[in-house]
Amino acid sequence: MEILKTNPRTIQALHYLLLVYEQMRNYKDALDVLEPLEELGEDITKQKTYLLSMSVLNDPKFLQTQKVEQLIQIYKQDYASVHLIFEYLFRVDPKRAWENFDSSQSELLVDLLWQINIKDLDLDIITKNSYLRELYSARGDLNLVTNSNIFEFDVLINLRGKSNATLKFDYFCDNCKHTSPFAFNRCSVCHSVDNLKIEFSLVKDYSRNFGEENNSFQ
Ligand SMILES: [Zn+2]
Repeated sequence: MEILKTNPRTIQALHYLLLVYEQMRNYKDALDVLEPLEELGEDITKQKTYLLSMSVLNDPKFLQTQKVEQLIQIYKQDYASVHLIFEYLFRVDPKRAWENFDSSQSELLVDLLWQINIKDLDLDIITKNSYLRELYSARGDLNLVTNSNIFEFDVLINLRGKSNATLKFDYFCDNCKHTSPFAFNRCSVCHSVDNLKIEFSLVKDYSRNFGEENNSFQ
């Protein structure tokens, strides 16, 4: 340990060691690497939340309900790894997801929100937040607004389901700008965690036939 502390390349070596443990899905040893990194002055908050979340998600001992509660506890420590945690929560337990949802993080979770089944929408939360009102009006489930400052939402709201258009999501790393068609938690290029940013654009919805009834509540 003394040798590690005096070597200027130690931090880089520890980061590589952490990545190796993570590749092996050995989250316990990966988490142990955070301690010397913190002693060397690194901010380990995001890495810790991410690795704790991954260890819960990949632990075969936990039941689904236990994973949900453990992830909520981890989330409440530092409010990090929001996309990773809520991807699981909205997929397996939308009710608990909404109970712990912070609408100020809607933009970070826009792709997940867009995909939530209509029966799992929480109307109390949605009607109280302007971004969510616009998002679900754009999706065509609700008719809560007549326009939006977000161009793509505004177009979809004005089309009112009379077109087979939908949103396509693209993901990029806020640290190195690497882009991907899929959401990621650790960037495959710069290896940072929790730097996911989401962009969306209008595309043709091939799953939907033009003229089909929209499934509006109203
Ligand atoms: Zn990156």
